[in-house]
Amino acid sequence: MNPHLTHLECSKTGKHYDPDRLQGLSEAGAPLMAQYDLKAISNFFHKEKLKSRRRDMWRYRELLPLGENDQLISLGEGFTPLNPVERLRNKLDTPHLFVKDESRNPTGSFKARGLSSSVNGAYNLGARKFAIPSAGNAAGALAAYAAALGVEAHVFMPKDTPAAFQVECEAFGAEVELVDGLITTCGQKVAEKKELHGWYDVSTLKEPFRIEGKKTMGFEIAEQFSWELPDVIIYPTGGGTGLIGMWKAFNELEQLGWIGSKRPRMVAVQASGCAPIVDAFRNREKKAHSWEDAHTLASGLRVPQSVGDFLMLDILYKSKGIAIDVTDDEIIDATYELASQTGILPAPEGGATLAAFEHLLKQGWIDPSEKVVLFNTGSGYKYIEALRMKSKVSASSIASK
Ligand SMILES: *Cc1c(COP(=O)(O)O)cnc(C)c1O
Repeated sequence: MNPHLTHLECSKTGKHYDPDRLQGLSEAGAPLMAQYDLKAISNFFHKEKLKSRRRDMWRYRELLPLGENDQLISLGEGFTPLNPVERLRNKLDTPHLFVKDESRNPTGSFKARGLSSSVNGAYNLGARKFAIPSAGNAAGALAAYAAALGVEAHVFMPKDTPAAFQVECEAFGAEVELVDGLITTCGQKVAEKKELHGWYDVSTLKEPFRIEGKKTMGFEIAEQFSWELPDVIIYPTGGGTGLIGMWKAFNELEQLGWIGSKRPRMVAVQASGCAPIVDAFRNREKKAHSWEDAHTLASGLRVPQSVGDFLMLDILYKSKGIAIDVTDDEIIDATYELASQTGILPAPEGGATLAAFEHLLKQGWIDPSEKVVLFNTGSGYKYIEALRMKSKVSASSIASK
């Protein structure tokens, strides 16, 4: 492992854990956060070094868990474009709008970042069998890295997960179990079976390294904006690793002396059919309640409960951010709008950020002159069933039958 990775810290109690062993949640049932000796790292890692670095997330190797001699199999994850979306800017009269296009990652979503670092990290600590509950993209990413490394992947998805996710997992050689229930039920299945089968559980925030991969989105935003963070980041929120990871990245960069204390206002977008964080935020609560009867076509947002809820809410309060929900109709309309104005076919989760942006502009919460980043977290090519609901071509071909 990275020699400057000093320990893993319980995000509730602060208790330290050994980073050179496979770990799960802390004894308090909370996520573990990797901690580095940033003072030591700042002595030899300077931002100028990045100029000659590889163009993927491993360009920030000094701030990631793997050591120089560890085996690392990358599929080119990270370092995605920050698109200045000219036509959309003109249409909305928001001259400083950007889309961070995560659909360009391997397997078409930002899940590749987290799974690359968790699977590679755990591989070097001896794990050879992996399991994950997933709404779709995480399963695909795990299956891809498991295929690249030649290890076992066992994935559990709701049975109504879009077909592309099921097919890609099978093609990558993963064992796929379709579950009658939501991601939380899938998580229970993994928990029940993992001990017997010797699986390493890479569920969202239940091991320490997925978040390390996800935090590279924060490094990239900082680097792409020349170390001056934007005013607002709008992020489609399910389990919350992206929000938590970016916030961690900003704090690490400040400790390295690469950025100042300015932080973006962080916006969590959820679907109206599954909005536990929005509910908790509106009630100014520290934790969220489990959402009953969760439904939305943005499958990555169909997460009724997260172990990182208290961390997300803390970030929203600290950053003077906000949580907002948008309906599935708004999500589909915004997905088409984003596509037709930019040439990027976003996942519905990405479309949701545009719908939220338009609401927040209208409410005056965002000023049109502000520098705003929308996160398109995945590719629309995997959600054809959902996107077809609005397609004139498919509607007319059905009508003519
Ligand atoms: C998983 C997922 C999300 C939610 O991400 P978190 O970081 O877990 O909140 C959003 N969009 C897409 C496309 C996803 O696959």
